Amino acid sequence: MDKAKITLENLGYNKFFESNRENLGLTKYPVARIVAEYREVYRVRNIEGEFLAKVTGKHMFTAIKREDYPAVGDWVIIEELPENKAIIRGILPRKTILKRKYSNKQENQIIAANIDTAFIVESMDRDYNLNRFERFFVLAIEGNITPVMILNKIDLISKIELDNRINKIQNRFASVNIIATSTVTREGLDDLRNYIKMGETYCFLGSSGIGKSSLINRLLQKDEIKTREMSLVTGKGKHTTTTREMYFLENGGLVVDNPGTREVGIADSDMGIEGVFDEISQLSKECRYSDCTHMHELGCMVLKAVEEEKLDKDKYTNFIKLKKEAEFYKMTDVEKREKDRKFGEFVKKAKNRLKDN
Ligand code: GDP
Repeated sequence: MDKAKITLENLGYNKFFESNRENLGLTKYPVARIVAEYREVYRVRNIEGEFLAKVTGKHMFTAIKREDYPAVGDWVIIEELPENKAIIRGILPRKTILKRKYSNKQENQIIAANIDTAFIVESMDRDYNLNRFERFFVLAIEGNITPVMILNKIDLISKIELDNRINKIQNRFASVNIIATSTVTREGLDDLRNYIKMGETYCFLGSSGIGKSSLINRLLQKDEIKTREMSLVTGKGKHTTTTREMYFLENGGLVVDNPGTREVGIADSDMGIEGVFDEISQLSKECRYSDCTHMHELGCMVLKAVEEEKLDKDKYTNFIKLKKEAEFYKMTDVEKREKDRKFGEFVKKAKNRLKDN
């Protein structure tokens, strides 16, 4: 994108952010978008250019908790300093949030903010896994982001096999848009390109090795991801690894690259789970007990539907798994320790019983 001509709208700014900025009385400060995140420093961009920006607690307008630290995609209020440096003084309310939770930590981590569409990528080789897709789907729905499925590496399977898979996916996820691509034969890349609109923000999700960087590079039409120099940060023109970064496409779309989304906890995504497993939510309204866990209760309509093969068994199993995970995340550390302690006692008792026999 030609830096001289960009507008805030080109960077994804819109009425939503502007009206929040007005309501918070922050119009006298410039806004900028976070386009890259490094250790303790951010690269931000606005119509003036790019700045290296830091958050300092005492300069923030509002106290923030760990989860609310800026993330790539955020619109922030900045105070410009000499030499293209800046201080981040506040974060404008987010339109959407993509977050994950590590199983051993209490706090959510924001992967990116203000993403409009998440391209969830699965590759057509051995890595193919619909349960994992469902997991990312939950994350997207929870964050208010539109999910689109990309089936990449279609050069590795036959057309018949691809059609079969697309059929299965459509059965399991009724309304999802599917784009089939190959970065090798370049099939489907135009479909992907046509999907992307000016000023909208996209991200690619999926485990490593499925072709996310290759797809982004194809969209950028050069190998920018692996070769981009970060002279701004080091001052020496050296390559520096970023944790996350936004790329600007020719047609005006904005793409956030998310390395390291392999371990995706679904956080406290009850809402996301309900959204994705709408069928199950509908069935559970008819269950005999309002707090039915759908695992063993009499009069459970979900179990009945699985038995009668009206509900996909894999979908049911994945639902139970994600639900348990979400419940575990919602527990406090004390509750988790108590659960572990009870389990320890249970094991001890069981062992003693074995000895007595
Ligand atoms: P990422 O970890 O998801 O970013 O994946 P990469 O883009 O680094 O790709 C992983 C590997 O898959 C590389 O060796 C790519 O060359 C290969 N790859 C990517 N896209 C395709 C594709 O459409 N077809 C085939 N056969 N290989 C691909």
